Amino acid sequence: MKAKNLLNIAEKYGCPVYVYDAHKIESQYQRLTSAFKEVSSLRINYAVKALSNISILKFLKGLGSGLDTVSIQEVELGLMAGFEPSSIIYTPNGVSFQEIEEVAEKGVQINIDNLDILEQFGTKHPQIPVCIRINPHVMAGGNTNISVGHIDSKFGISIHQIPHILRIVSNTGMRINGIHMHTGSDILDIGVFLYASNILFDTASQFEDLEFIDFGSGFKVPYRDGDIETNIEEFGERLTQRFKEFCKSYGRPITLAFEPGKFLVSEAGYFLTKVNAIKQTTSTVFAQVDSGFNHFIRPMLYGSQHQIINLSNPNGRERFYSVVGYICETDTFANNRRIPEINAGDILAFRNAGAYCFNMASNYNSRFRPMELLWYNDEAHIIRRGETLDDLVRNQVILDFN
Ligand SMILES: *Cc1c(COP(=O)(O)O)cnc(C)c1O
Repeated sequence: MKAKNLLNIAEKYGCPVYVYDAHKIESQYQRLTSAFKEVSSLRINYAVKALSNISILKFLKGLGSGLDTVSIQEVELGLMAGFEPSSIIYTPNGVSFQEIEEVAEKGVQINIDNLDILEQFGTKHPQIPVCIRINPHVMAGGNTNISVGHIDSKFGISIHQIPHILRIVSNTGMRINGIHMHTGSDILDIGVFLYASNILFDTASQFEDLEFIDFGSGFKVPYRDGDIETNIEEFGERLTQRFKEFCKSYGRPITLAFEPGKFLVSEAGYFLTKVNAIKQTTSTVFAQVDSGFNHFIRPMLYGSQHQIINLSNPNGRERFYSVVGYICETDTFANNRRIPEINAGDILAFRNAGAYCFNMASNYNSRFRPMELLWYNDEAHIIRRGETLDDLVRNQVILDFN
């Protein structure tokens, strides 16, 4: 998006505000599908948890996407956005058996990652086909918060437990129609991904009724200049070749599925904040913005580094700033970062604010959550209004002590 448009938005709607560029979401979607254009049946299921605004879901539906969901509430949002239940996959972890049954009743594809749940489900509903989430025990990336495929992860059924799965399937007469893995969000290396894929192919070849293999996500997007990003084009070429070989040996073509969140929406998002004050201490210059980890928690939660642009003074002389928030906690967005000179009143844009940003926002410090805008056809559209005091007290039951 152009800086000028972001600045206009900040002026017109006020800060803090999230802005998503629909065209960027579309171009990422198209990059992914064209990297796999040689696959006869490709399915992209957008991971709702990254950014779940219904207008975003509808926009992705228009592009041809399905949905990947992790809660019954995400399923409901998808249905509200107009998705067919059959174009939604549900990949829960640690949820109640009852919730899984409720989602299955809606006609949504169930993905099970627990032997005990698999046995219960197969015994009770042998007629409903399910997908199985495998843990291939591949360490993806270095950050254990987002690596979910390694040996002691709570996600997936270990590949060492495949014999158990096969026993449950034959005892219950249930049908396994998909094999799935999701090894985390930070796979730098195509080789690692392909290695995990081979494990998935080996697993898949042991099941007769497959309709799809789901490779989850793990695409890395650039956050900083010089960051490595997954080379989707090369990855597409190499995985396509292996997938075709697999289908050949399997005896029939099946669907190849992915469920990207970050890849589709991260770079489309901008979080705009206004600088309330500059505070000089003995060692640091702080730029204090009108937000905090209540609105934007990734830097504090994951140590993620989001680029910060000074929209008001893009050509100013660069100085070192620690960009912090206004809540009563340590809420550092950036430490000693070189940014063009910042003055009170300037508008700072945080990049990569599309995925896991608004959706992790809270009302901590009794602040309102930001509004969300979609930049579409050269115009900003409100897709979530800002909150008011009424929103903060909406479900409170206020007792009277007289
Ligand atoms: C979170 C999640 C995704 C999306 O991961 P990204 O890194 O945002 O692409 C995909 N599949 C499952 C099962 C997930 O939990």
